[in-house]
Amino acid sequence: MTIKDRAAGQARRARTNLVHGGTKRSQWGEVSEAIFLTQGFVYETAEAAEARFLKAGEDEFIYARYGNPTVAMFEERMALLEGAEDGFACASGMASVNGALASMLKAGDHVVSARALFGSCLYILEEVLTRYGVEVTFVDGADLDQWQAAVRPDTKAVFFESMSNPTLELVDIAAVARIAHAAGALVVIDNVFSTPVYSRAIEQGADLVIYSTTKHVDGQGRCLGGVILGTREHIRGVVEPYMKHTGGSMSPFNAWVMLKGLETVDLRVRAQTEAAEALAAALDGHDKLCRTIYPGLPSHAQHALAEQQMGCGGTMIAFDIIGGKAAAFRFLNALEMVIISNNLGDAKSIATHPATTTHQRLSDAQRSALGITDGLIRLSVGIEDPRDLVADVLGALEAV
Ligand SMILES: *Cc1c(COP(=O)(O)O)cnc(C)c1O
Repeated sequence: MTIKDRAAGQARRARTNLVHGGTKRSQWGEVSEAIFLTQGFVYETAEAAEARFLKAGEDEFIYARYGNPTVAMFEERMALLEGAEDGFACASGMASVNGALASMLKAGDHVVSARALFGSCLYILEEVLTRYGVEVTFVDGADLDQWQAAVRPDTKAVFFESMSNPTLELVDIAAVARIAHAAGALVVIDNVFSTPVYSRAIEQGADLVIYSTTKHVDGQGRCLGGVILGTREHIRGVVEPYMKHTGGSMSPFNAWVMLKGLETVDLRVRAQTEAAEALAAALDGHDKLCRTIYPGLPSHAQHALAEQQMGCGGTMIAFDIIGGKAAAFRFLNALEMVIISNNLGDAKSIATHPATTTHQRLSDAQRSALGITDGLIRLSVGIEDPRDLVADVLGALEAV
């Protein structure tokens, strides 16, 4: 992307950039972005090859693990959406989380992380980084005093999910960023649950923002993908060398699917939110539930923070059915439209029982510390007509 293209993109609004941002056309002038399904690139001369290996210029590629035109379009479109200087596209959300952390940490470094994490993120922080001599302190993400007490002069990064899975607890990005930056640490955020549509993470102090683009960006259940967004200096100087040499780059085909996903992600996520609001209102105070968790509800303890940080409650709902696992299973098996699966952010509404699936690996004590009770259902709201969604969920609750 030339500086002129980028300036044009920055002057436009997000929804426009989701359709046009980062687009490069070949000599054929195709309307839909081309998939450059090629591993390598041909050089006119030996001298040209030598020059490109010395320093690849704008729009010059060497090998698909290093970069590819379709992948570059996706990186540019994501960076414009997030308001980041640059991005590196990865094979999955987990390749992004691992890449963001492993690329900048070394033995002896210290990291502070929120405890409520996606299972694979917890594995990277608890089992992988520590094996290489990185010390990790876990804190309750919503408790600012714990963040303050945990950071030290050797803290290199803080890591958290801005909204936790599956209990939808928010971390105050701006407040944690102030604490981290005062200690000289970078703020690394897994921002999947907040979605790139509602994110203002960089403006609020994030240094690196990570998405599993498997979720809302594809949003149609097809491909794995991820992206790490940040300053050009950090993405090209720290993240890219690690990613391109360790092999976690995104494939051109997946980048193309993600580009198509980005064209509609704003429309889908807003429709999902509208349906989530309708469903949450219908569930709040329901007599079969001991609680309904949705940051867009005034009853959510962090409702004000959600409004300030995201402008709404997002696309995910959780609720705890009275009667534990048996009742939760009766509910799931009575659903007629909502599918039972473990993806999220999809066009189809998806119900998950975290205790027996995504969080099965945790001990009972860990689950209860995270508020993952046996009756808890996580619901990723899709783009179906909200009336059909509400009818299906309320109908299944009747069967409990
Ligand atoms: C899904 C998810 C990931 C992992 O992404 P993959 O694309 O499945 O590798 C990481 N963090 C969060 C919060 C997620 O929801």
